Amino acid sequence: FFDALGDVQSDSLLALIAMANADPRTDKIDVGVGVYRDGVGNTPILRAVKAAEKLLWEQQQTKSYIGGFGDKRYTELLRPIVLGRHAGDDRIIGLHTPGGCGALSLGFKLIATAHADAKVHVGTPTWPNHIPVVEAAGLNISEYRFYDKLETRIRFDEMISTFGSAPKGDVVLLHGCCHNPTGADLDEGQWREVVDVVSSRGLIPLVDIAYQGLGRGFAEDAAGLHLLLDACDEVVIAQSCDKNFGVYRDRVGSMFLKTATADGTKRAMDHVVQIAREMWSMPPDHGAAAVRIVLDTPELRSDWDAEVGEMRARINRIRGQIAASDPRLAYIGGQFGMFSMLPLSKEQVVKLREQHAIYMADSGRFNVIGMADHAVDRFIGAVIEAMNG
Ligand code: PMP
Repeated sequence: FFDALGDVQSDSLLALIAMANADPRTDKIDVGVGVYRDGVGNTPILRAVKAAEKLLWEQQQTKSYIGGFGDKRYTELLRPIVLGRHAGDDRIIGLHTPGGCGALSLGFKLIATAHADAKVHVGTPTWPNHIPVVEAAGLNISEYRFYDKLETRIRFDEMISTFGSAPKGDVVLLHGCCHNPTGADLDEGQWREVVDVVSSRGLIPLVDIAYQGLGRGFAEDAAGLHLLLDACDEVVIAQSCDKNFGVYRDRVGSMFLKTATADGTKRAMDHVVQIAREMWSMPPDHGAAAVRIVLDTPELRSDWDAEVGEMRARINRIRGQIAASDPRLAYIGGQFGMFSMLPLSKEQVVKLREQHAIYMADSGRFNVIGMADHAVDRFIGAVIEAMNG
């Protein structure tokens, strides 16, 4: 019966992780996987999260079901962080999801429930899982070129002309900050132009914000999203706490929806809960409960703020170090978040793997903080050698 199944085209990033793990060279550098690493190459549990988990263990009285919306206090506490000046808008309602992936999936399924024939404009390259998630919702995808890897710049004209000719009701998928895989974020002027065209043409923005706080700061990283909320009546937000709380495996995220009226949003959220019920019934509690405790406990919250500040500083320090090493890498200093893309061919990437035990995606995407401090100079030397070769 199951012989009917063909081979899955495996996620090349997962294959890369397996390859790096199997490499016996002790000086290998794995900048393929997308997790934060500290100066010695570990992905630590944040102090504030560990303390919150301890409190949770001591104080939790029951593990009874929590309901379709998940932990409501958790989403309440996220509002000011994610929505900023829009936190008090009762036309925006949130729901706790299993990670950013769960939020994206819910958002696109809600769009498909409202309009099965909606088209989603996706700028490439994008996070590889975006495409299957949109397809799984049964929606049509139209790709446009967002970034020029060799010229190391956003193809902004192409983005604006794509949106400018899209019909009302088309959906645009936007990265809130720390673009994955390129690190190329829109600046304020570009956000304003995007917001103008999206709102004037009646397009529906779905904003994926998975790295808030790891670029410039919490408010700065959501500034584009807040401009969209100023101008648009209908916005879908897929948010993740997995990176900025370092709780990747605990699957902590949220989906927020804005429609033109509070009643309209309530009605739409009934559909969202119904869709979630079919997929996971209720979100996992533990990670969101730990995040809730951090945000609800002043000392833990300020410690978490400091820890996110440390992560951001490490990211931007290593960006600066790479940018200063060669004029061809200077663009990396003007990008944000954990990823950037090197202007390398697949052959050059393979050479880095074979000759230097440096593992990155075939596209040249690498995790800026994937390497320990002591490995940065070796990484830079090998990349410059590859660019020259
Ligand atoms: N969006 C983007 C752009 C991502 O990079 C990721 C994770 N790599 C996600 C969403 C999903 O995050 P989560 O692990 O919370 O599902």
